[in-house]
Amino acid sequence: MNSTLTKALKKHFGFDRFRPMQEEIITAVMAKKDCLVIMPTGGGKSICFQLPALLLPGTFIIISPLIALMKDQVESLRANNIEAAFINSALEFSEERRLMQMLTDGSLKLLYLSPEKLLTNSMLEALQGVDISGFAVDEAHCISVWGHDFRAEYSKLNLLKNKWPKVPIMALTATADKITRRDIVKQLAIENCEIFLGSFNRANLSLQVRPGQKVYKQVKTILERHNRESGIIYCLSRKSCEEVAAKLKSDGYKAAYYHAGMTAERRSGNQEDFVKDNIRIIVATIAFGMGIDKSNIRFIIHYNLPKNIEGYYQEIGRGGRDGLSCETVMFYSYRDVMILQDFAKESNQAEIQIAKLKRIQQYAEARVCRRKILMAYFGEDLSKDCGNCDVCKNPPEVEDATILVQKALSALKRLQEKVGIGALIDVLRGSQKSYIFQNGYHRIKTFGAGKALSYRDWQHYILQMLHHGLIEIAYDQKHTLRVTNAGKDVLFNDRHVDLVKPLIDESGSQTFLKPEPQKTKKQEFEEQLFNELRMLRKEIADSKGVPPYVVFSDATLREMASNHPMDLGEMASVSGVGEFKLAEYGEAFLNQIRHYIAASDIGSSAVKGKTYIQTLQLVREGRSVSEIAQERNIHVATVYAHLVCLFEKKLITTIENYLTPGEMGKIEAAVRATGVVDKLKPLYEHLKEQIEYGKIRLYLSYRNQSK
Ligand code: ADP
Ligand code: ZN
Repeated sequence: MNSTLTKALKKHFGFDRFRPMQEEIITAVMAKKDCLVIMPTGGGKSICFQLPALLLPGTFIIISPLIALMKDQVESLRANNIEAAFINSALEFSEERRLMQMLTDGSLKLLYLSPEKLLTNSMLEALQGVDISGFAVDEAHCISVWGHDFRAEYSKLNLLKNKWPKVPIMALTATADKITRRDIVKQLAIENCEIFLGSFNRANLSLQVRPGQKVYKQVKTILERHNRESGIIYCLSRKSCEEVAAKLKSDGYKAAYYHAGMTAERRSGNQEDFVKDNIRIIVATIAFGMGIDKSNIRFIIHYNLPKNIEGYYQEIGRGGRDGLSCETVMFYSYRDVMILQDFAKESNQAEIQIAKLKRIQQYAEARVCRRKILMAYFGEDLSKDCGNCDVCKNPPEVEDATILVQKALSALKRLQEKVGIGALIDVLRGSQKSYIFQNGYHRIKTFGAGKALSYRDWQHYILQMLHHGLIEIAYDQKHTLRVTNAGKDVLFNDRHVDLVKPLIDESGSQTFLKPEPQKTKKQEFEEQLFNELRMLRKEIADSKGVPPYVVFSDATLREMASNHPMDLGEMASVSGVGEFKLAEYGEAFLNQIRHYIAASDIGSSAVKGKTYIQTLQLVREGRSVSEIAQERNIHVATVYAHLVCLFEKKLITTIENYLTPGEMGKIEAAVRATGVVDKLKPLYEHLKEQIEYGKIRLYLSYRNQSK
């Protein structure tokens, strides 16, 4: 481990250790090598150029296509007292001129530019006179038509190597696709670069797929688990975004919607409110999330099935960027599959789109560790099951379902394969709906043969039958069902079928997750302290006009809540507290922690330092030692011991309130006479037992510190 880099990481960003690959990448950049960095969203790519930018002489130039992201990053850097700025078309001219001056003066460590801005003649000219420590091309996949977000201006970035052959170029992306990767390297003319391919596994995201019935009700259960926390709900259409957001609002949640059909102004307003924790739930189409850096997203819900695995993974990847857990839940229904299939068929790459849809459908229906499937999709091999997905937490139980399947297939045959899933289930369950009678379905032999099972359970079984290839859907004929050859084998040749049993929870719906265990008293204590710290953070953030996570991340506040630092020294060791933020906010957060601990009713044994803090609180109210002893029902000697500790931790700065000048003089004389500075007894005896032990101890501690 390179301790200089680790020290710099702590000093500037407050982090104690590097995440996987960061250190190797930074070392390569510092050695002026070109690099290609492929890491998932939230993997920690930014530090990989931010730290070299600080350590190398000159200015690091970052090219980024997303204005909102530039702003977020610059705010976060400034919160750590780092000279960073961005220039893009949204800036006022006077501000731009000021920044250009800073750039040519060499007083910026990092400058973020949009590609359009970089490519202007005036900027290129200005940069000629600047000592450039490196270029970072963020969202580098935008350079390739193979990537999913091609930007024409990006294709002109080959001029970087031409104009500045000696300056290292870093290309960063979260897109793993090999063709795109090759294209990036070629276009930037960095064919000999070092390639860093990070793991795409984000273990802190829990994965869950739930049946898409009574979705709104299920969503509310999830929201209750995340009281006060932020999250995103992705919907398929603009209309459903608006509807879901409206329902949530009328149920008292702070929610807003976001989609491409709104004015840019309203969109950015809602985004800003979300980033600043003014609203906690955004209901959005996929358009949302590209340009935001909010690190404390605690849940991501897919109200509908996503179009493909790439999109799904990118969307859930927006959660838990601070490394804390994030719950992700996808709702899966056959209805969505139908809708998406129709979309796909109309698109110009119909075949690919349909194949991709099939993959995500298989993912949703799978009964093996979901993370294994995802990682396999991205070409990584997860050797063990993850333990953090619904399948791992609740391994499926299979049962012999031959008879049940035969009932369904036989009904389908008798219905002449002219119905879809819904009608088949209605017939099996002997439904009394009018269309059943109109079509004479009530007269077929298997009518009502599956009464014992709920509609939902039947749906669950029929989907699996589809998955096993016992039936298929004629998409071109109103989605009616057909019995396949494999199905005929079950029906006529007694072929055996095992299917996964649906699980039933108390509310009667299928569930794949066990309930959360109850919180302990200690956990509740920490939870509340965390909430208080969060309120303080919000206050500070609002007063500075920045998003709360720019002040401290959730991960940092969590650590404060569980370690409750007592002084600045302990505060400095919290991850995320760098030198500047310690000086800026350390005291305020310490005070909040002390205040909370002193007022809480949790026992001293459960909270480190609580007894000292209670004493401190009384000291601050100006109480005497004997009053404190009486009030707290502890020995005077104990109070002195606390005072010594508080003094040594610099929580009290004078001892004059506890020792008179006369007493101090006497103890000092005794120290001089005996030459003892570290033992109490000889001094106590020398002073003829006139001055108590506690006072002597306090004086020695004072004497020690003032040396
Ligand atoms: P990416 O650009 O890869 O999506 P970011 O650079 O935005 O990811 O980093 C995601 C989050 O992780 C940020 O909140 C960042 O502050 C945090 N982070 C980065 N590196 C570390 C680290 N070494 N220790 C703790 N947190 C980190
Ligand atoms: Zn798993």
